[in-house]
Amino acid sequence: MKITTVDTPEHEQVIRFEDAASGLKGFIAIHSTQLGPAAGGVRMRPYGHPDEALNDALRLSRGMTYKNAAANLPLGGGKAVIIGDPATEKTPALLRAFGRAVQSLEGRYWTAEDMGMSPEDMALIGQETRFVAGLADGEFASGDPSPITARGIFNAIRTTARHRFGSADLTGKTVSVQGLGHVGYHLCRLLHEAGAKLIVTDIDAAQVAAVAGEFGATPVAPDEIYAVEAEIFAPCAIGAVLNETTIPQLKVGAVAGGANNQLATEEDGQRLHERGILYAPDFVANGGGIINVATEILHIANREEWVAEKLEALDRTMDRILTRAIAQSVSPNDVAEAIVHEILHQEAA
Ligand code: NAD
Repeated sequence: MKITTVDTPEHEQVIRFEDAASGLKGFIAIHSTQLGPAAGGVRMRPYGHPDEALNDALRLSRGMTYKNAAANLPLGGGKAVIIGDPATEKTPALLRAFGRAVQSLEGRYWTAEDMGMSPEDMALIGQETRFVAGLADGEFASGDPSPITARGIFNAIRTTARHRFGSADLTGKTVSVQGLGHVGYHLCRLLHEAGAKLIVTDIDAAQVAAVAGEFGATPVAPDEIYAVEAEIFAPCAIGAVLNETTIPQLKVGAVAGGANNQLATEEDGQRLHERGILYAPDFVANGGGIINVATEILHIANREEWVAEKLEALDRTMDRILTRAIAQSVSPNDVAEAIVHEILHQEAA
């Protein structure tokens, strides 16, 4: 396997790997190990150009530094990308070769599942390296993170409601939920149990029928979700859904959901702020997922107690962000980034 270093100004270490025998090619980007070993999933996609894959790795690994720091975890930020179509090009030989690329970094980067990957794939990668999380079996295997991710988002919704509407009580409040997959389904259950009314959508009709039936949710078509009247909008499907087209349509007081990279551009944080819509930064709201994975990386024995403490700390961070954003009348996303810089700065001092 050929491993070469890519020089980049902001990241600690970036490698390019290429294995002719298995067809593996891609990048591992370590943005920061200041708080601990870099952790972040591996994504496999048929990128059009290697630069596109490199840019994804650089951007996503930086995002992991922010997410891990906001979740108060002793982990840095990293991410790996494999160039190829997971449906046709993912083979055991390719996955094992990727495991060797991870191993070459000697624990400075821990990999896990992301788009195009499964727990079975992690097991194959694990034949070549111990620096892999997201395994289905094993003493510290952390399993499906989505119930804990949903719990963290639920807490974020309550805290956002307290700041925006004066009470964290969700009884009778309407929450619109986009995306009813792993995270969205569990979130709807928690919201329903808390007495909230639900307006939901998904491109998968079976998911919509399940949530409508189980939790009495009102379904709407996918492109109608932005314009429904609700107290809170919870995006739990895909990224970039908060943009110049959707934000003017919103009839909500707050946005708090689990999807990654909800803001299409930095200006969209400002756009929400100008419309008086309180935005719970996504990389804080959805930190439960990495908290769950961290139990596996850090070999946490008293798992339940540890996760509960971390979720409480995450909620306090959200509270701090929203308190400061409201006091200074600025976008919570800007405050969240500033708070992460403060955490990293304190560690460095
Ligand atoms: P998932 O694939 O299980 O569910 C996503 C759902 O969104 C699917 O049901 C899909 O049909 C639906 N969807 C896709 N495009 C849509 C559209 N345009 N309109 C409406 N619905 C649409 O994924 P998930 O694990 O539930 O993750 C959801 C989001 O949360 C993703 O952005 C993911 O990156 C993020 N996230 C997930 C976790 C986790 O623990 N699973 C952790 C952190 C962040």
